[in-house]
Amino acid sequence: MHISYDFKGQVALITGAASGMGLATARAFAQAGAAVALADVSEAALQKAVDDITLAGGTAIGVLCDVSDEAQVAAMVERAVATFGRLDAAFNNAGIQVPAAEIADQSVQDYDRISAINQRGVWACMKHEIAQMRKQGSGAIVNCSSIGGLTGRALLAAYHGTKHGVIGLTRSVALEYADRGIRVNAVCPGPINTPMVSSMLERNMLSMDDLLRDVPMRRLGRGEEIADAVLWLCSSGSTYVTGQALAVDGGFTVY
Ligand code: NAD
Repeated sequence: MHISYDFKGQVALITGAASGMGLATARAFAQAGAAVALADVSEAALQKAVDDITLAGGTAIGVLCDVSDEAQVAAMVERAVATFGRLDAAFNNAGIQVPAAEIADQSVQDYDRISAINQRGVWACMKHEIAQMRKQGSGAIVNCSSIGGLTGRALLAAYHGTKHGVIGLTRSVALEYADRGIRVNAVCPGPINTPMVSSMLERNMLSMDDLLRDVPMRRLGRGEEIADAVLWLCSSGSTYVTGQALAVDGGFTVY
């Protein structure tokens, strides 16, 4: 059985929505009846995602936005609210990986780039989304962390640092708004079959054996399995849940 949600009359904003789990989540929100604003830096892929959702009967707009630029993030939220009138749910998902390296060999440029997108981007998205949700007195936000937010991994310190940071932001902002109708949670995906992982495999940053060795379910997850968790965290099925970092990881963090 697949659980279905009803987001009719609601508005959802998804960053990094042109690919991978962001795209799967945008599709799932649209299928559940939400009007969706998809944001990404990749113009062609974004347009295709919006066209596909619209063709399937959904209501969607695309917003070009680099989440590492606060002015663009502010404009993204403004555009979603100007188009659809409100903002009920947000999945702050945009993120990147940088080449694996020992910390002694890593460039400060790589560190700053990944921090600006994965961590400051989540901060900027929450800042502007919550400014709208605070006026409404309601809203639900899910930030994309990772099993890298719950564990360490040699050679990936910069990435894991940003994903730990996302959980710290999530918990603290959840406390700020817990009694004002706004819930803030994080998802922590394990290895998911998306273009990000394919590219790490292609560049030999990791092997499939490396990826699956510590996954008790011995398979990659699917973007749709992350979408299911995000929709639940934004739905009326989770109204007493805030400040949590939910691992969706085939059991990775259970060892
Ligand atoms: P993906 O590469 O398939 O998709 C990421 C999307 O984000 C792309 O469409 C890309 O254009 C967009 N993007 C990149 N930089 C951006 C920016 N500055 N502003 C706006 N959009 C930007 O990756 P994915 O695997 O779907 O990853 C999505 C999120 O999940 C990331 O935050 C990633 O760190 C996290 N994550 C992925 C995995 C995994 O195994 N795939 C596991 C844990 C966490």
